[in-house]
Amino acid sequence: MLLVFAFGAALWGFGAVMKVPKRARWNIIGLLYVGVLALHVALPFGHPLRMATGERPEGWLILGGGAALVFLYRYGLQRLRGRAQQAQSTPVQKGTFSHTELNRYARHIALREVGGAGQKALKGARVLVVGAGGLGAPVLQYLAAAGVGTIGVVDDDVVENTNLQRQVIHTDARIGMPKVFSAQAAMQAQNPFVTVRPYHRRLSADIVDELMVEYDLVIDGTDNFDTRYLVNAAAMRAGLPLISGALTQWEGQVSVFDPAQGAPCYACIFPHAPSPELAPSCAEAGVIAPLPGVVGSMMALEAVKLITGAGAPLRGEMVIYDALYGESRKITLKRRVDCTTCGAGVATG
Ligand SMILES: [Zn+2]
Repeated sequence: MLLVFAFGAALWGFGAVMKVPKRARWNIIGLLYVGVLALHVALPFGHPLRMATGERPEGWLILGGGAALVFLYRYGLQRLRGRAQQAQSTPVQKGTFSHTELNRYARHIALREVGGAGQKALKGARVLVVGAGGLGAPVLQYLAAAGVGTIGVVDDDVVENTNLQRQVIHTDARIGMPKVFSAQAAMQAQNPFVTVRPYHRRLSADIVDELMVEYDLVIDGTDNFDTRYLVNAAAMRAGLPLISGALTQWEGQVSVFDPAQGAPCYACIFPHAPSPELAPSCAEAGVIAPLPGVVGSMMALEAVKLITGAGAPLRGEMVIYDALYGESRKITLKRRVDCTTCGAGVATG
C-alpha cells in the first residue's frame, strides 16, 4: 500500500513541478486508484502485484469512500458559495430592493410614515444639491444614507484646509480635490446603493434650467446670493420645491420654497440681496462648527418628508435656530403678489 502512496505522491509532485492544474492531478490520482482496485479484482490472491499493493481490496475501498465523501462535501460547499455570490451580484430591478438594502433601510421601513412605499419613493427620487460646503456636507451625507436613489451635486470649489472645521464630508487627505468628487467618494463609501452625479462647475444661468429638468427636488446650501436667486428662479420655472438653508455665526434658518404649491418663493421673502456689510460671509463673520450640521440635517429631513409625504414640510414657514441660546422658533412666510420671480405679473411656465 505504501508503494502506491509513494507513487501517487511522486506523480502529484511531478505534476506540481510541471505546473499541471490541480484538477488534472486529481484525475491522475483517481486513475491510479481505479487501476489498483482493478488489479485487486482481476488478479488472483497471492499475485505479487496484489501483495505489493496491500493484499486485500477492503482498505482501498474504505479509503476511496472517505475521499469521495470529502469531495462531495467540498463540491456542495462550492455550489452554495457560488449561489450566494450570484444572489449578491444579480442586478436589482429599479424600484425593488436587494436583501442587503432591505436590511439597511429597516429602521426607515419600521416607521409608519415611511414604510416600504416611502423607501421605494426615496429610491426613485432625484435630488439636486447646490453647494458641497458647510450645509451641503450633512445634506449629501444624509440623503445618501437615507437611500435617495439619484443625488446630483454641483459646486466649483476645491477642498481647503479652512473648510474642514465644519464641512465633515471632506477629509484632510482630499485637500485640493474638487468638492463634488470628495463628496461623491464619501457618499459612495457610505452607501454604494445610490447614484451620485457630480458637476464640478459653477451653476450658471445657461445650464440651470437644463439641469433642473433632471431632478424632482432642489436643495440650496450655497453662501452667495447670486446663486440663491438663480436657483430660486429656475426651481420656480421647473415647478420644483426648493429647500433652502442659511447660516450666520450662531444662527441658522430653514424653509421650503414652493410656489407651485402656493407657498412663497425665496424672492418673496428676500426680494433684494442685502449689502455685503449686512450679510458677511462665513469667512468674514465666522461660523460655529456643528451649526451647519444642525441646519443641513434639517434640510435633508425636509427632503425626506417631501419625497415620502411624511408629516408637514416647512412650506410657507421658516424655522430659525439660535445655537447660542439653544432656542428655535417658527415664523409664517407669506407669498408676495408683486414678487418679481413668482408674483401675479410674472409669466410662469
Ligand atoms: Zn416669489
